[in-house]
This record gives sequence, structure tokens and C-alpha cells, in this order.
Amino acid sequence: MRALVTGGAGFIGSHLVEHLLGLGHEVVVLDDLSTGSADNLAAVADAVTVVDGSILDEDVLERATAGCDTVFHLAAAVGVHTIVNRPMESLRRNLLGTQAVLEAARRHCRRLLLVSSSEVYGKNAKDSLGEDDDRILGSPLKSRWSYAAAKGLDELMGYWCWREYGLGVVIVRPFNVVGPRQSGAFGMVLPHLVEQALSGLPLTLYGDGSQRRCFCAVGDVVPAFTALVQDERAHGQAFNLGGTEEVTMRRLAERVLRVTGSAGPVVHVPYDRAYEPGFEDMARRCPDTTRARELIGFRARTGLDDIIAAVAADRARAMEGAR
Ligand code: NAD
Repeated sequence: MRALVTGGAGFIGSHLVEHLLGLGHEVVVLDDLSTGSADNLAAVADAVTVVDGSILDEDVLERATAGCDTVFHLAAAVGVHTIVNRPMESLRRNLLGTQAVLEAARRHCRRLLLVSSSEVYGKNAKDSLGEDDDRILGSPLKSRWSYAAAKGLDELMGYWCWREYGLGVVIVRPFNVVGPRQSGAFGMVLPHLVEQALSGLPLTLYGDGSQRRCFCAVGDVVPAFTALVQDERAHGQAFNLGGTEEVTMRRLAERVLRVTGSAGPVVHVPYDRAYEPGFEDMARRCPDTTRARELIGFRARTGLDDIIAAVAADRARAMEGAR
């Protein structure tokens, strides 16, 4: 395939680019480097065409899409801090940006993988969230929910591009994907805790630390992106992608301390100080990935301690490089 990866210089995007090149595909990256970095593609710089521009720029998007048969759409404003602090800009990227990518893809391409998020389930704290489960979102006036609202509408637009125009759209909902190259700078919990531990700083947990999440290694997720978009049975459907080992944030911090050999301490920061007054979080979020397993054999294989060790090695290298 000749694939366009929007957001390809980001954390997940750069791993996807390497995976696609490894399979022998041609890859074009479109990224405005707002949270991504050219360094993320350093190992494959000679093999990939990188367009430095925004999905919101019609001309750039048109040129990047033409000649590609497949689009992997990952470009987005991500991270709770970004969404809460820059709400309008985030909405433009996550809503209007996706609309523009879908329009361009339906003119030029055969299929598109739309990277949504487990955030669409909002506060639904069910044991194991299935793709057809209800979404429970807080007030639209709480900026925290604007990411989930935008991703939900993205899914709707993607679905209707498949139904009405025949574009082969697959929707994926990743749950807490982690691994090398993910920065802690935008509020992602694991790299943030690891960076604090490696710097000998206290580890900060928001709220009481009882929130439960399932982490999944990026290397387990990106092969599912390519398998799903190439499988016509997946078109028009949404797929959860995530791990199954559930852990509280308190326990995660303890495991980070153990793996990094740091002494802590762990301190708690109230949500309204960490984000904004009235901030709402979800108590737990754990995926049911049966649908992806049955169709393409998806399984999260990497254990949490191995993930933490890989993140710690990567963050240590990044911090050394920044000195
Ligand atoms: P990331 O910030 O590393 O990647 C996003 C990339 O998009 C960055 O390289 C950024 O520069 C680029 N970008 C942003 N706005 C753009 C624009 N207007 N034009 C072109 N490029 C733009 O974050 P990530 O974690 O790799 O996220 C990738 C995708 O996966 C996003 O769509 C995100 O919503 C989704 N996702 C991530 C997770 C996770 O756990 N990391 C979970 C669920 C969903």
C-alpha cells in the first residue's frame, strides 16, 4: 500500500510508520509537529516522505493524500492538559481536522483507519467495555469532555463516509497505549511518573490514586491497525484495542518506583489543582477486545513490568540527550 499517516511524527504514529515500512509499504507522513517531533522518525528518515504541515491546511492535505490508497488518521490534539488548556484549538484539530481528512480520503483513497479513543466511553465504569456499550459523558461545558465529544463525532463522520460513499473506514479505540517515545509533557501518566522517578522527584498522582486503567504496549497495537484496515470485514466497524491487566494509579506508581529503583515519595494532587475546578475523571476503564481478537487474532502480549522497563530506558535516554 501507499499509506498516508497523519500525526506520523507522534508517539503512536512513528511506531506505525516503522511497522508499515517493515512490511514493505510506502509511507507519507503529514504532521505539524505540534506535539510530535522529527526525532521520532530519525531511524527511518531516508525511507519516508515527511510533509511538515497541518491537516487543517486544505492544499497541503490535498497534496499529501493524492497518490495514497490508504490513510491512517492519527493527527489530533491529545493529552488532558492540552484539551483543558487549549479547548478551541483542540476542537479545531479534532473535529474540523478529521472532517477535512475524511473528505480528502474519499476523493483520493480506498480506505482509512480512524484512530478514536477509549475516552468516548466517558464515565462508563463497566467491568469490561464492549464496542456497543453506552457513552456516559459529563456536561459539554466541561472542557475535559470535548475530546470525547469530538472523537465521538469523528466516528460518526467516519461511519457515514463508509455507508454513504463506500470509503473503507475502520474505527479503532485504543485504551492507554504506552511505550518508548511517549512524552510525559502533555499529561500522560506513565511517562510522567517515570520521568519524575528518574529525576529523583516525588511522583504526583491526581486524586486519591484509586483510578484503574489497563495499559497496552504500542508494539502490540500498531500491527492491529494495519491488519484491520486491510480486512474488508472490519470496514464500517469500531474495535477496542487495549490490555487486560488492570492496575490502580497508586499501584502503578509503586511499580514505577520498583522498576526504576527510585525512592519516591508518592504525593497526591487534587484534580482541581491539577486541571480545573470541577474536573471529572473516570474511576476505571478496561476494554473487552473480543471483537478484534476474533477477527484478526489481536492480543496484548506485553506485561506491565516489561512496558515500564522499556519506558524507563527510553525516558532515561531522552533525558540524557536533553542535558
Ligand atoms: P501524539 O501527540 O504523539 O500524536 C499526535 C500527532 O499529531 C503529533 O505528532 C502532532 O504533532 C500531530 N498533529 C496534531 N495536530 C495536527 C494537525 N493539525 N496537523 C498535522 N498533525 C497534527 O499522541 P499519540 O498518543 O501518538 O496519539 C495518536 C492518536 O492516537 C491520536 O489521535 C490520539 O487521540 C489517539 N489515541 C492515543 C491514545 C494513547 O494512549 N496514546 C489513546 C487513545 C487514542
